[in-house]
This record gives sequence, C-alpha cells and structure tokens, in this order.
Amino acid sequence: MTLSERARNAAPSPTLGITAKANQMKADGIDVQGFAAGEPDFDTPEHIKQAAVDALAKGFTKYTPSAGIPALKKAISDKFQHDNELTYGPNNIIVSCGGKHSLYNIFQALCNPGDEAIIPAPYWVSYPEQAKLAGAKPVIIPTTDRTGFAPTIEQIRAAVTKNTRLFILNSPSNPTGAMWPRETIDALADLAVEHDFYVVSDEIYEKLVYDGNEPVSIAALGPEIKKRTITVNGVSKTYSMTGWRIGYAAAEAEIVSAMGRLQDSMTSNPTSIAQYAALAAITGPQDFLNDWVAEFDRRRQELVMGLNAIPGISCTTPGGAFYVFPNVSGLIGKRFGDRTIGNADDFADYLLQDAQVAVVPGSGFGAPEYMRLSYATGMETIQRGIERIADAVRSLED
Ligand SMILES: *Cc1c(COP(=O)(O)O)cnc(C)c1O
Repeated sequence: MTLSERARNAAPSPTLGITAKANQMKADGIDVQGFAAGEPDFDTPEHIKQAAVDALAKGFTKYTPSAGIPALKKAISDKFQHDNELTYGPNNIIVSCGGKHSLYNIFQALCNPGDEAIIPAPYWVSYPEQAKLAGAKPVIIPTTDRTGFAPTIEQIRAAVTKNTRLFILNSPSNPTGAMWPRETIDALADLAVEHDFYVVSDEIYEKLVYDGNEPVSIAALGPEIKKRTITVNGVSKTYSMTGWRIGYAAAEAEIVSAMGRLQDSMTSNPTSIAQYAALAAITGPQDFLNDWVAEFDRRRQELVMGLNAIPGISCTTPGGAFYVFPNVSGLIGKRFGDRTIGNADDFADYLLQDAQVAVVPGSGFGAPEYMRLSYATGMETIQRGIERIADAVRSLED
C-alpha cells in the first residue's frame, strides 16, 4: 500500500507518544510519576458541565451554524473587548473544534506552496506540521534559555524574506512557559506592518500567568497590525476543557470567512453541547481561576527550585502556562550501563525506564538539549518526581 506523501510526512506528536507509554506502564502496575501531560489536572468546573447537561436536555443536539452559535460568538466578542481591548464583531469570529483546528484552518486559508511560516523554536509541535500540511515552509528561529526563549529583534528581521506569509507568536509559550518582552512584540508588529505579513497570535495560555505578568495581545497595538493578526484562543487550558474541543479565532472578516468555508467542508460545526458549555465558561464566574493560578504558581516554584538543585540541570523560571523547560545539556556525555546520554531523548528514556518519571524530550519541540515538564500535576508528584530525577542523575557516570 502507498499512502499519500502528506500522510507519510506527518510526524507523530511526541507529547502523545510519551503519555501513551507512561499510561501503559501505569496500566501494568508500575508507579510512574507523570510530567508529560499537556492539560490542566483540574476537573471542568461544575457550572460548565451543567450547561452541557442543560443543552442536552433542551435538545440542542443538532447541527449549528458551521462557525458557531451566535450566542457564543457574541460572548467571545465581549471577551475580546473586555480582556484584550480588541473590537471583533461576529463576522470576525469563528468557533472551531479546538484551538488546534483554528490554527489548521489559518494555515489552510493563508498559505500557498512556497510561502514561508516563521516559527520560533522551541515551538508547539503542531505549528511546523500544520505549515507543511498547507504546503508552506517552516522557517525556524532558534532561541535558548539565555534569551528567555524569545528571539531577538535582529533574529526576527533576519528571518523575514519576500516569501514570509505569517509569523507564529505564542506567548506564554508551550513548551517553555516563556513570555516575550513587550519591546520584542512591539518590534514584531512594526516588522509585520512594514513587510506585510500576518501574525498568528496563539493566546491559549493568556490567563495562566504569574508574578504579575501582563500578557500582550499583539492585535491591540494598533489598527495596522490588527488587520494583519489572527488571534487564536480557546477554552481548553483556561477552563480545563481539553476534551470538549472548542477553540476560536478572530481576524479580518475576509480571513474568517475563508476559514469558515474550509471548515464547512472539513468538520461543519464544533459539537453543539460543547458550544453551550463554552458559552457558560466564558460568560460565567471566573473567580475559580485565581485558585488555579495560585496552585499552579506554588507548583511552578517547587519544580523550578527542585530542578535547579540537581547538578547538570538548569531551569529558568517561566512567566506563564504550566510548563518548565529545563536545560539538560550538562548531562550530555554521561553514561548509564553501556549507554551514553547523547541528547534529551536519551535522558527522557532513561528517566522513564530507570526512574519511572515521564517527561517530554525537547527534540519534538525543536530543542534537543531541553525537556518539558508539565506542573499540571499534584504537588506530591512534583516532590516524588524531583527526588527520583535527582537519584537518577546521581547514578549517572562520567
Ligand atoms: C493546548 C494548545 C492549543 C490548543 O489546544 P486545543 O485543545 O486544540 O484548543 C493551542 N496552542 C498551544 C500552544 C497549546 O498548548
């Protein structure tokens, strides 16, 4: 059998792979401490679940408009105004089957073969894959912990060519948790206007920020950049609703309408009852978030401190999201048995097999000397996990 070139070139998600392996070990009765999860560990709040139950009882179980029910689009419009000082009307908003689906639609709506999509690394694994699926070429800007995982303005300028179609901005970031300095976002906006390319601003982690950090919506910096921005968000991370599959995007009406036409042929509407749940999430009480963010913050500090106490590992303090992204280059070249740690993949393998700790190696995120640990997991897991990682590192030989 010959599969399509597209299918053959699609890389599997490294995050889902390690999670599956760790889950299998758990199912086999092995006590694994898991840091691989890409979703909050809290339950979806009760009032949101109840909204779905009510929608079901009322018979909202049929097709809806492909781009989402009007009430949800209105709620999203109000949210943008209130949270981001952005005026987007219903024609500027499309609801999709998750933020990931919104992003897929954006690449499909904007990119032709030969177009370039600039993606700073470490990146969320789906960005380059989705660019390739649209025939676009991912242009990667490497960044390190030394610059807080943000590119310099010079790096951004050097990556822009006449073929640049769009730039992916994800602050706070998955996998690093990093937030870009305001000046870099300002400079990106100026460059996008000057060279007329789009900025896709993935703001899925905007509510999960620490230390008084203020997330910046690049579209809000002025009318010219707003025209060239597609703002992506969703309910998965903020409301612990990853399984419900509701995300959304906002942009110029022409772009949104193109995304809608594509969505018509791909999925039609996102699940009707999940849309009512998302409506309750966005319009309902937000105060529970304070507790979640406070809890994430405690874990963040515990994890960063614990990792930095381990020789060979160094971890910057992330400003948002629920990930840390420690540098493990200090362990490269060390040995266990007859194997040598050549990169973070080897170290992650070693941790899973020998220490029963699941982390995601950075190679899938374009950063092979790092690994991602999610702290969307209990404090006990963090404390036990740190102990095990420390023991495992102590057992390595030079
Ligand atoms: C989780 C995530 C998304 C979207 O997730 P959905 O569940 O599809 O809404 C988008 N971008 C990043 C960086 C993410 O981590």
